[in-house]
Amino acid sequence: MTDTPLKLFNSLTRALETFTPVHDGEARVYSCGPTVYNYPHIGNMRAYVFADTLGRVLSFKGYKLTHVINITDVGHLTDDADAGEDKMEKMAAAQAQSIWDIAEHYKQAYWADVQALNIRQPAQWTIATDYVPQMIAFAKGIAEKHCYEIDSGLYFDTTTVADYGRLAGPHVLDRIEDEKSAWLRIGETEGKRHWADFAIWRKTPPGETRQMEWDSPWGRGAPGWHLECSVMSGEMLGFPFDIHTGGIDHREIHHPNEIAQNQAHCCTNGLDVPANSGAKIWMHNNFLIDRSGKMSKSAGEFLRLQLLIDKGFHPLAYRMMCLQAHYRSELEFSWENLAAAFTRLKRMVMAVARLRELCETRPNGNPVESVGFAKAFDDEISNDLNTANSLAILELIFGRTDLRPIERLAAVEQIDSVLGLNLLTLTRADLRIRPKSATITEAEIEARLDERLAARAAKDFATSDAIRDGLIAQGVEVMDGDPLRWDWKPDLG
Ligand code: AMP
Ligand code: ZN
Repeated sequence: MTDTPLKLFNSLTRALETFTPVHDGEARVYSCGPTVYNYPHIGNMRAYVFADTLGRVLSFKGYKLTHVINITDVGHLTDDADAGEDKMEKMAAAQAQSIWDIAEHYKQAYWADVQALNIRQPAQWTIATDYVPQMIAFAKGIAEKHCYEIDSGLYFDTTTVADYGRLAGPHVLDRIEDEKSAWLRIGETEGKRHWADFAIWRKTPPGETRQMEWDSPWGRGAPGWHLECSVMSGEMLGFPFDIHTGGIDHREIHHPNEIAQNQAHCCTNGLDVPANSGAKIWMHNNFLIDRSGKMSKSAGEFLRLQLLIDKGFHPLAYRMMCLQAHYRSELEFSWENLAAAFTRLKRMVMAVARLRELCETRPNGNPVESVGFAKAFDDEISNDLNTANSLAILELIFGRTDLRPIERLAAVEQIDSVLGLNLLTLTRADLRIRPKSATITEAEIEARLDERLAARAAKDFATSDAIRDGLIAQGVEVMDGDPLRWDWKPDLG
């Protein structure tokens, strides 16, 4: 256990709180996972880089971590507040494919991004459709006191729990109540008693069949999206567990609804005691913003991790970009920001390589007290995950020539185990990614550089410069004195 108490911002109390685990020495975390109807965009992946960093910090602080991330393969409608079509059914119809195949394909695509971003495997991925019997049992348990049945399904009556909507912010109910759109929502579902009430079970309309439907006491149909997360988090972690995470949009509807269900299920009262909500701490990452509109999944080519790779960026440059901002701040995406993060990553990887060389040539030296750095890092990361300042501390360590290289390397390794940039494993060659738009092959570049070397040996500097300029025009950076010899320039948008 490290020395500095871990402080985390709890969205429920809107305050920084010292983390005190429900179970001694353990940390149990649930993160809302993706709806696998399409590829994740890079904004979605910010939510998992954040959840992974949180998990790594909890491990670093000495807690035995149990992290659960769910995969939503049923129930999420196009509007979080119960309106619109089922996202999965809609995509399956558009692509004329089985919904199960759609779910499998996009789950695998999401997992590929998870791996590329060095997000650690959670203890468990829970797949929503594996938990339908438990969802029905949960719904049966709260139906009598907290729900009402109408033609379209079983609805949760939000007036039956204390403090409904507290997570969304003080007075949020009054604020939303004023909004005409909120009232219009009631009209969309006949029989709904309050605009905030939400579906626990959605019945398949008479005469229709859905690709995914199950029998229940309320007829054939499918579970509501909010029900899934209450059931999977409670099943895997037990109520109350320590931390529930998600993107900031979930603070408004999805998580308040989960909380209401948890209160009903656990027979807990108001939310002055945060644990009554099912989790002691609710944490939310802010959004990645893209002003070009390329993050919308309905906009044709959208910002997926693969698009970044196609343009010559290593995926961990995106992780670096996320870490440069605080998770609670909005982060604006631009190709220039990403390029700056990529350069920073390259510098760190080169610095590790230099340290390694130094370790070989100067294995011994005067031992120096490096505890100062460990403490500084612990202070920053324990302060609601200040990754931006942690990166600055990492850079200071590289330059501390008064420390033995082996000590510096050990400090870098420890900090990177939390930041997850893979600094001890990546090589400069790994970071050389060919942009899809490149018109020259690696073999051609090598051949041209050999010609250039020959020209220089013959003191023919005009030819040498012409070769270099020609390569630059083709998106290749020539690096004299670097064993890698050349690098691709990423394609900036
Ligand atoms: P979804 O697949 O729509 O359920 O979203 C997966 C996760 O991504 C959720 O935690 C969302 O809150 C989060 N999310 C969605 N858009 C963004 C964004 N632009 N920036 C950061 N997180 C986001
Ligand atoms: Zn969820």
